Amino acid sequence: MANVLVTGANRGIGLELARQLAERGDRVIAVCRERSDELSALDARIESGIDVTDRDSLADLAGRLDGVELHGLFNNAGVLRSSDFDALEDQLDDYRLQFEVNALGPLRVTRALVDRLVEGSKVAIITSRMGSIADNTSGGHYGYRMSKAAVNMGGVSLAHELKPRGIAVGLLHPGYVQTDMTGHTGHVGPAEAAAGLIQRFDELSLESTGSFRHANGEALDW
Ligand code: NDP
Repeated sequence: MANVLVTGANRGIGLELARQLAERGDRVIAVCRERSDELSALDARIESGIDVTDRDSLADLAGRLDGVELHGLFNNAGVLRSSDFDALEDQLDDYRLQFEVNALGPLRVTRALVDRLVEGSKVAIITSRMGSIADNTSGGHYGYRMSKAAVNMGGVSLAHELKPRGIAVGLLHPGYVQTDMTGHTGHVGPAEAAAGLIQRFDELSLESTGSFRHANGEALDW
């Protein structure tokens, strides 16, 4: 049994991660801005009122977890806004938001909680293959793609940073998932995506730290 923290746990993929981790017996710390009824129904410790872009929130979260050993951390919270090249100047706030949540969020949450991690702990960053430069064959989605490319780079640096402490970092793409983010289009449901992410998390080791994988196990190009 492990203590595993999930951000963005009130809905979507994060809710499913929390559900499945709790069902298998992990002690889940479900972090969110606002709890949902579905999350409240789970056997999880809920830490609400936490915005991953807010310094005071992160300090508050670290304080609430004083004395708690974290064996797993899923940086899942994320946001998608549309990008239209012609409207670039009007959409810069959306770009900044995506950068704040998707790129800086995982780094800031991990930094805030790093002293709660121990040798053998693992950090998952839920990124996207839309952040892969090699895989960008269709263009568009500037802000989202740029934010996820940035978190991929940050995640690899984090893997180097934390390896001497015996902590592994994995960059994980959930697949194209039916959640609010995709308007419930997508190829798989959140349950299937979360199950794959948990398998990849379980496989993650210091040997594979800094790798970029699809929830289905496929290694992804940067
Ligand atoms: P959802 O839109 O369903 O959920 C997003 C979650 O992130 C919500 O819990 C939301 O909380 C939380 N969140 C957003 N902004 C903040 C913030 N500032 N502080 C704290 N929490 C925040 O998305 P998904 O479940 O689909 O996405 C989960 C992750 O998977 C994201 O990182 C996303 O980029 C990634 N992903 C998803 C794909 C998909 O096909 N769905 C594909 C590839 C990657 P709140 O309810 O308060 O807004």
